[in-house]
Amino acid sequence: LLPSVREPLFAAYNRGDAPRVKAALADPGLFKIVQCAPAVRVAIAEEFGLPLGSLTPGKMAAALKTAGFDRIYDTNFAADLTIMEESSELVQRLTQGGRMPMFTSCCPAWVKYVEDTYPELIPHLSSCKSPQQMAGALFKTFGAKLDEVEPARVYSLSVMPCTCKKFECERPEMAASGYHDVDAVLTTRELAQLLKDAGIDFDKLTEAEFDKPLGTYTGAGAIFGVTGGVMEAALRTAYEWVTGQSLPELDFTTVRGGEGVRKAAVKLGDLELKVVVVAGLKHVRELLEQVKAGKADFHFIEVMTCPVGCVSGGGQPKVLIPGDKPAAYAGRKGSIYNHDAALSLRKSHDNPEIQKLYEAFLGKPLGSESHHLLHTHYTSRRQEE
Ligand code: SF4
Repeated sequence: LLPSVREPLFAAYNRGDAPRVKAALADPGLFKIVQCAPAVRVAIAEEFGLPLGSLTPGKMAAALKTAGFDRIYDTNFAADLTIMEESSELVQRLTQGGRMPMFTSCCPAWVKYVEDTYPELIPHLSSCKSPQQMAGALFKTFGAKLDEVEPARVYSLSVMPCTCKKFECERPEMAASGYHDVDAVLTTRELAQLLKDAGIDFDKLTEAEFDKPLGTYTGAGAIFGVTGGVMEAALRTAYEWVTGQSLPELDFTTVRGGEGVRKAAVKLGDLELKVVVVAGLKHVRELLEQVKAGKADFHFIEVMTCPVGCVSGGGQPKVLIPGDKPAAYAGRKGSIYNHDAALSLRKSHDNPEIQKLYEAFLGKPLGSESHHLLHTHYTSRRQEE
């Protein structure tokens, strides 16, 4: 990575945010809302001695309740919301024109790489905020209304597998509601340490549920935690919207995999949608050079900076036994797909709480309220050599 990309990310990496989260938890004047990213629930148990890749959403929700949060909401809900907006944007660009191919925008390190290194390609990025930021924007608006709390009293914490999310939450444009979408980010490791400091015995907790409505999610939201997951979730929704037919097979196995580049073509009725999934930023340059030269023969590209997507993020538990890393990544990835397969709803547009959110508050995907709260813009950060 260029120094201009690397240094802010490393600064975020080296900053411990647990002390200010502990101070917020101890403040009775704040209404504390927390969200957890999809990849956290398949890794945090490793910090408490459970097997690599253990799936523990119920214990995580219970731990956060015990730690003193007022609402346990979920980034997975916002991942479903992201699909509503991003699939709408993709369909709009396909049918009405717009810069193609479209790039996903969930990974802040990838977004910053484009801003730094290929700013001329910024119009290709989806304008959707990441799920973390969408959730935060809802907590300070719709969530505050639900609980009849002044938005200024809402403290919005996210737990992420990712150190770059600390950088993302501080971007000045992430405050369209008048308040910062997210007040603080803890990594998976930082949350585990906070729970240990509070004397919470993770393994012995009785499982709890995420709070409704902003904690309800489908399998499509859950798979955001692995490379190819955003693409697969978007395809599940785009297929049904474009064809008007029920998707016969939900698993798009051609976009699943590990580090590197995968290409696939998916029939959406008469349209053959050509997609590319990239895991690991070092693999993306050749594709971007093709896009720059106008020679890219595809419609939609997902890029995740980490080698297997967020399950392998820099804020996840360290794998201490040499050689265990592939097993840890495989275990976490397997748990994400098992979680998806076990959920009764697996398409974002089937999430009943998402449907109610549009009816009661947002209007429609890409509508004015959605655009105001859930979309953003990007800026060239290119520095001359
Ligand atoms: Fe963060 Fe890595 Fe996930 Fe990107 S892929 S959002 S850098 S954890």
